[in-house]
Amino acid sequence: LFAAVAMAPRDPILGLNEQFNADPNPNKVNLGVGVYYDDNGKLPLLACVAAAESQMLAAPKARGYLPIDGIAAYDQAVQGLVFGADSDVVKTKRVATVQALGGTGGLKVGADFLKKLNPSAKVLISDPSWENHRALFTSAGFQVETYPYYDAANRGIHFDGMLAALKAAPAGTIVVLHACCHNPTGYDLSSAQWEQVVEAVKTAGLVPFLDMAYQGFGEGIAEDGAVIRQFLAAGLDFFVSTSFSKSFSLYGERVGALSVVCSTAEETTKVLSQLKIVIRTNYSNPPTHGAQVVATVLSTPALRAQWEEELGGMRVRIRQMREALVQELKAAGITDDLNFITRQKGMFSYSGLSVEQMQRLRSEFGIYGVDSGRICVAALNSKNIKAVAAAIAAVKKA
Ligand code: PMP
Repeated sequence: LFAAVAMAPRDPILGLNEQFNADPNPNKVNLGVGVYYDDNGKLPLLACVAAAESQMLAAPKARGYLPIDGIAAYDQAVQGLVFGADSDVVKTKRVATVQALGGTGGLKVGADFLKKLNPSAKVLISDPSWENHRALFTSAGFQVETYPYYDAANRGIHFDGMLAALKAAPAGTIVVLHACCHNPTGYDLSSAQWEQVVEAVKTAGLVPFLDMAYQGFGEGIAEDGAVIRQFLAAGLDFFVSTSFSKSFSLYGERVGALSVVCSTAEETTKVLSQLKIVIRTNYSNPPTHGAQVVATVLSTPALRAQWEEELGGMRVRIRQMREALVQELKAAGITDDLNFITRQKGMFSYSGLSVEQMQRLRSEFGIYGVDSGRICVAALNSKNIKAVAAAIAAVKKA
């Protein structure tokens, strides 16, 4: 039966993890995978999460099947966070939200639904984008193409190219947009640029799919969500996938959501019924634990305040690491303009290093980043930053 099965390529980023784990170098540093570590290099367990779990443990409950669309209080909390609990769109029941298996799950439920709705639509993702965007939409049956995004020469966004590609796309094209903290480049659109994107999407009749995997890691929860309000103000129907993997440090619980903004409450009911079919035929219904934790934190004022503080702490630490990286690189003799490092937002930095330089970082220094030059700034800390900067300086000089 399996004799003809070909070996699939390793996932480029998870494959890097395997290589890292096998490296005997005691000074190795993993800047590959997108995970936030604290200053001790540890994956944090947020105090608000531990508190919610203690509450749950104090009043243990049996685990029946959840509704297909997940915990109602969770879906409501997601809507509050993404759109604002008092927003018109929520109050008039124009958002269908379903609990999903992480941000990836939200994207896939949305992709499968869109494939049924408009099977011949093309999907546009940014060039470059999170590796899984292409794979996920391709596996949902779509032809996936790109719009220009990264401008290597100017270390920023090729905005004119992006806008031109959106304007030229046929009506109905699905456009995947990173709501904040662009992965992998770290470069985000300004609010004025977003306004132009919204306008272009509206005029061309495109279907926006906002991927919000890092809300709160850029400028703040409300600030990072501002783009959602720009799309709402334009009166567009659109998709938003949410991930709590990073913002709650709940990677392994697979907590995310998909929200679909519709034009009327009646449409919303119908869309929700179709999303439920996608879920039912894939995994039936979602798991209880992670979403219960997130719902508890978001709906308990003291825990919510604690979460905002802890999330703010992660955001500030990342920013400090960006500043420290610039300083250490300068101290190591790099004279290039390094301002781009602090202009970037979120967990990642497109370092501008070549494939060869990234490979040398790995083989000579045990510093693991992605071949594209992407490094995870959220894995830098006060103990490893000097060594990382010295290694980068060494591969840049030679
Ligand atoms: N979208 C982007 C842009 C991401 O970077 C990630 C996580 N690396 C995801 C979606 C998926 O998040 P999750 O782990 O919650 O599935």
